[in-house]
Amino acid sequence: MKSFKKNLCPICGGTKKAGTTTYMADIGSSVIVVRNVQASICDQCGEEWIPANTARQLEGIINDARKNKRQVEIIAL
Ligand SMILES: [Zn+2]
Repeated sequence: MKSFKKNLCPICGGTKKAGTTTYMADIGSSVIVVRNVQASICDQCGEEWIPANTARQLEGIINDARKNKRQVEIIAL
């Protein structure tokens, strides 16, 4: 486990807190909604950061959705 000294929002200086968010992507042929995505969320401005490994997971989901060609894909992690 890495330890984070300060987890401050670069936008407003607020504190980033672990939480979950809903990720949405419009890839033209379809809209993908992924619920329950782990993210760091600023407690002041609400800006969200998705960790790299989760972002990779989302990429995989988007690629699958592209192949499936469904108009709307709603997934929960
Ligand atoms: Zn902020």
